[in-house]
Amino acid sequence: MLFISHFLFEKFLKTYSGITLFPFIILKHGKNEIPEYDFNVLFNHEKIHFYQQLETLIVFFYPLYLFFYIKNRLKGMTHFSAYQNIPFEKESYEKERDLSYLKSRKFWAWRKYF
Ligand SMILES: [Zn+2]
Repeated sequence: MLFISHFLFEKFLKTYSGITLFPFIILKHGKNEIPEYDFNVLFNHEKIHFYQQLETLIVFFYPLYLFFYIKNRLKGMTHFSAYQNIPFEKESYEKERDLSYLKSRKFWAWRKYF
């Protein structure tokens, strides 16, 4: 289920432009507000997270996400680098431009990005 909320991102998630909280995908900008390609890439990034959440039964996604983030921070990474190196984010960033990726994506594909 896709929602657009300028408020959420301007008020709370300033540096982000999308978030997936199963079953919702919330984006900062609607389809007509940014270039179509940028919208599709962003939406694809969040859809990959949607499937990651589904296959971690949703409840395991958030603790795992936090676990990987903390692990990266303990390795000495900055906040941004720790975030980008979470396996879920690595998969999403690497594949977000492949708009047909989800058609061929394998179950638990994020495990390749440990
Ligand atoms: Zn992401």
